[in-house]
Amino acid sequence: MEGIELLAKLCALPGISGYETAIRNFIKDQLKDIADKIEVDAMGNLIASHTGRSTQKLMLSAHIDEIGFMVQHIDDEGFIRFIPIGGFDAKTLTAQRVIVHGKKDIVGVMGSKPIHLLSAEERNKAPQIKDYFIDTGLPAEEVRSLIQIGDPITRERELIQMGPCINAKSLDNRISVFVLLQTFVQIKKMNPELQIFAVFTVQEEVGLRGARTVAHRIAPDFAINVDTTIAFDVPGAQSHEMVSRLGEGIAIKIMDHSVLCDYRMVQVLKDVASKNQIKWQAEILPSGGTDTSAVQLAGNGCIAGAISIPTRHIHQVIEMVHQEDVKAGIDLLLATITTISEIEWNHH
Ligand SMILES: [Zn+2]
Repeated sequence: MEGIELLAKLCALPGISGYETAIRNFIKDQLKDIADKIEVDAMGNLIASHTGRSTQKLMLSAHIDEIGFMVQHIDDEGFIRFIPIGGFDAKTLTAQRVIVHGKKDIVGVMGSKPIHLLSAEERNKAPQIKDYFIDTGLPAEEVRSLIQIGDPITRERELIQMGPCINAKSLDNRISVFVLLQTFVQIKKMNPELQIFAVFTVQEEVGLRGARTVAHRIAPDFAINVDTTIAFDVPGAQSHEMVSRLGEGIAIKIMDHSVLCDYRMVQVLKDVASKNQIKWQAEILPSGGTDTSAVQLAGNGCIAGAISIPTRHIHQVIEMVHQEDVKAGIDLLLATITTISEIEWNHH
């Protein structure tokens, strides 16, 4: 895929919610010669603007934080207890490598009780986050000198290509960051009338926090959020449970647990996709929320919609997306921008 090295870098950079400095600085660097203006607000949201000639404002957003952990306690032997930041499925942590971002980056492994020592009852029980600890292999004194309570911890995994698919940690939501970066580069070449703000938000995974303040500041007329969604198109799934399927196109969000996308924006996205032969699928996500909701409700509200990249194994260590869906996402955003300023938006 074009830009795969950029995506690998985006996925590798650490950035649990509230600790997004490394990923934010990297994105800022990518946009510094492209955007008309770049700002970072108090919470750490990054805003890259295209000035435009119109009074109307379009906000495009993608969250830059990733799920991870935080050091909670270091015991006498140097083993680390942690709390999750964002929604983790505990069973996916077994035997994973992580990176503890202390005074320097330290690799650790997620340890738990070996199978031999589990009682019959324990073997039948799903593991809990509290059953795990992190083992760095270092002597306790060294752990204590390098690591403090509150240090962030991220997953350790390399990006690989698997046929038409891409497999990596943190594709939620770095794949959308990639989409937004690529889109913004093209926007600047198109030089549209609309004022456009490419916003890279913080703290989405802990409750859509960054999007709230930044949308209030920008007060957009229109907003399109980019995030990942569940693709449960796997063995054992019933067709009505899949939410989305890999390779079937960009998902146009109709609703999730946090938002009912504006029906007009949903229609515009569908029409533009169909008109431009961009493969799309409709998304209804019964649980889980996105920044779309925070943006829709900020200030006086705005006409908000969202597109989602179908993602298998989401919120695990090895998330997977299809490169054609990613490309369709970029194409749909670009094709929608010109339409937004051309149509009548009254309720009808
Ligand atoms: Zn996400």
